[in-house]
Amino acid sequence: MLDNIIEFFKNLPAKNCATCGEEIEEQHECYGNKCDACNIL
Ligand SMILES: [Zn+2]
Repeated sequence: MLDNIIEFFKNLPAKNCATCGEEIEEQHECYGNKCDACNIL
């Protein structure tokens, strides 16, 4: 069972910033789909 959950998260596509396309690391959901740099601007 646990193995399936791990595989599920492994297969999730990486988030990319909607503004610059930079890959977004796992972080607060309130940041939406932008990276730190674009959120500051
Ligand atoms: Zn960005």
